[in-house]
Amino acid sequence: MAFRSGRHLLQIPGPTNLPDRVLRAMDQPLIDHRGPEFPVITKAVVAGLKRVFKCSGPVAIFPSSGTGAWEAAILNTLSPGDKVLAFETGQFATLWRNLAQRHGIEVDLIPGDWRHPVDPAQFEAKLAADKNHAIKAVLVLQSETSTGVASDIAGVRRAIDRARHPALLLVDTISSLAIQDFRHDEWGVDVAVAGSQKGLMLPPGLSFNAISKKALAASKSAKLSKSYFDWQPMVDANDSGYFPYTPATLMFFGLREAIAMLDEEGLDNVFARHDRLAEATRRAVRTWGLDIQCADPKAYTPSLTAVRVPDGCNADDVRKTILERFDIALGAGLGKVLGKVFRIGHLAYINETQLLGTLAGVELGLAASGVPIKRGGIDAAMDYLGGNALAAVAPTMAAAHR
Ligand SMILES: *Cc1c(COP(=O)(O)O)cnc(C)c1O
Repeated sequence: MAFRSGRHLLQIPGPTNLPDRVLRAMDQPLIDHRGPEFPVITKAVVAGLKRVFKCSGPVAIFPSSGTGAWEAAILNTLSPGDKVLAFETGQFATLWRNLAQRHGIEVDLIPGDWRHPVDPAQFEAKLAADKNHAIKAVLVLQSETSTGVASDIAGVRRAIDRARHPALLLVDTISSLAIQDFRHDEWGVDVAVAGSQKGLMLPPGLSFNAISKKALAASKSAKLSKSYFDWQPMVDANDSGYFPYTPATLMFFGLREAIAMLDEEGLDNVFARHDRLAEATRRAVRTWGLDIQCADPKAYTPSLTAVRVPDGCNADDVRKTILERFDIALGAGLGKVLGKVFRIGHLAYINETQLLGTLAGVELGLAASGVPIKRGGIDAAMDYLGGNALAAVAPTMAAAHR
């Protein structure tokens, strides 16, 4: 690769751009994870995670990618042959289904078109019909990262309650935690699954399970075999600030710093920032005349926007042009939408000007790739972000010349 000046923009929906503060926090000599200092760090990190998950029970921290925490949620709560209910929101819902199936779980995946969120009414109907409670868990993604569609977790909880069904509620928050509101205890979530490399502004390599009392009780009788991902030794060791095996020490320093940053900004402000950036992005996309993969405006996820390219265009060619010409990495279309969508990540450590730089690169890249678009996406994003200030300014020379 030729030398490239300036920052590479990593605008995929995770891993995300690392804050310098997090990088510096991790640039430390290693300490003994069984020594006297480590419990101080463990306790700070676990208490911080509880604030982020809004949970009061234990949070298991695994040295793995998010997929490990998916697996941990399944292994600790279910037994071979158990039935679970899920909804095909997109590629990640499909992958979680596949993982559960490989462990001998029978998954009823309600088909979806990859453009809409979970329909709680369908869950309610299936659960109400399950009179002898064969269904042991419901699997939902708060944010389906392959399509940019968010599902209503509180609504799913209400559906389970209306059906008076005891199924556990397992929620993937990998691309929503610390991005949009999530309330583990209040929404009656039993296991929340998360990873380090998205909203938490860390490198990939840590994953999390926030665990309810009911889920912990279920783990005592769950019969799938587990060892590395077993909650119990983790929960026991964490009580004294330690781990059953070597934790990813340096990542803990980074996590402590990332949580401090979330505390300083305030979670509600973090959510509002993501909402603003996501709306600005959608205004740019609509101005270009392109379609947004999420077809339900109530279900846009604030972490990313999946953009559909017109028939005859290849989204991966567009991504390649944007990477080579403007040094911006965008997310690929996954599974069924391969080549049909590209994904703009606008999550984690990002502000308005970083987003505008990204959108400018996308507009230029779309044009350079020969995708038929209308100009003005950046203006639309700026008008939204700038509000009244920009509206009061006279139109630009460029606009006058168009
Ligand atoms: C990224 C992601 C995953 C997969 O996590 P890995 O860290 O790649 O294992 C699962 N679910 C969702 C919603 C994701 O965004």
